Amino acid sequence: MHVLVLGAGQLARMMSLAGAPLNIKITAYDVGSESVVHPLTQMSGGDDLESAIRQADVITAEFEHIPLDILAICEKSGKFLPSTEAIKAGGDRRIEKKLLDGAGVKNAKYFVIQNQDDFKQAIEHVGVPMVLKSALGGYDGKGQWRLKDVGQADAIWSEMAECIAASDNQAIVAEEFVPFGREVSLVGARGKDGSVAVYPLAENVHTNGVLSLSTAIDDKGLQEQAKQMFTAVADSLEYVGVLALEFFDVDGTLLVNEIAPRVHNSGHWTQQGSETCQFENHLRAICHLPLGSTRLIRETTMINILGEDTIPEAVMAMEGCHIHWYGKEKRPGRKMGHINVCSDDQQGLQSKLCELAKVLDKGAFPALHEFADRS
Ligand code: AMP
Repeated sequence: MHVLVLGAGQLARMMSLAGAPLNIKITAYDVGSESVVHPLTQMSGGDDLESAIRQADVITAEFEHIPLDILAICEKSGKFLPSTEAIKAGGDRRIEKKLLDGAGVKNAKYFVIQNQDDFKQAIEHVGVPMVLKSALGGYDGKGQWRLKDVGQADAIWSEMAECIAASDNQAIVAEEFVPFGREVSLVGARGKDGSVAVYPLAENVHTNGVLSLSTAIDDKGLQEQAKQMFTAVADSLEYVGVLALEFFDVDGTLLVNEIAPRVHNSGHWTQQGSETCQFENHLRAICHLPLGSTRLIRETTMINILGEDTIPEAVMAMEGCHIHWYGKEKRPGRKMGHINVCSDDQQGLQSKLCELAKVLDKGAFPALHEFADRS
């Protein structure tokens, strides 16, 4: 099988690594440079997008902000999975909210803002404090504002007006502020036959809006709620592939924050922690192969490496630590790689995380240090 991935970043790279044992060959299309590349070497083989589409058995995506003309060409080929509808829902918060409401899935109260009058209505409808998010192009906490007090409304409006004017079809989605206790996510796969296999929930810690730690957790009540919501969303999209749902946990009740129609950073722990990793299961689903077991095989935490291109050798020497670099050039805050830390039990995992905090820099790994300080 030959899969073409739209996007040539770390997710395409890890799909390529997971596909090799199954004889699934991955080619990636770098949307920025408009070139077809090998996902590991980033070398171009000289193909253009049309010929890459012709040669592929299946086309998929590693991100949701894909130019609509490219999406349309891929959809027309009849090879694109999950679907244009799913990608658009992941890339436009207005469509995402409609999808969640249509699937009967709990999410934060919201109001769509196009102009200053809408903003006033949003304040009435949603209330203060509120979180304001650009409908298009926002990710990792970018394109967001917090309105804590109506006195800040004019200042925030001038920034939002600039954002709306800067691109076509832009709007702001105002959301009630959710006083959550923690954030969790569910990654799972849906096959063409409608079969669903979800991984254990992951508890996620963000630093400045970017995921820093993700740990598989065992909570039967929450898992059941999350699976029901996952199935409702995936079924309503007739989804094929891996899908991620991010939730707010408010005293044991889950509200969906957002969806990602692709393999997800909070599912990287599955590379060492589960019988079949999310990358393999995505490929299995889109290639119409049986889904693999999502069973937890060891307690695992994923630590994102942000803005660093080296880490102490002591980390590699530690039993149960697995490093995954993405081969990217160093930039402040950039996702450069991750470490999966594994142990047979939760106590062992906790001690390993504390050991790691002793050798990893506090400035670069603040969430790990906070965890170690609390333990
Ligand atoms: P997002 O890009 O929507 O995932 O938002 C980035 C982060 O902002 C989330 O991981 C939350 O920590 C926080 N956040 C987003 N929406 C809300 C909300 N409605 N209430 C409280 N916090 C939020």
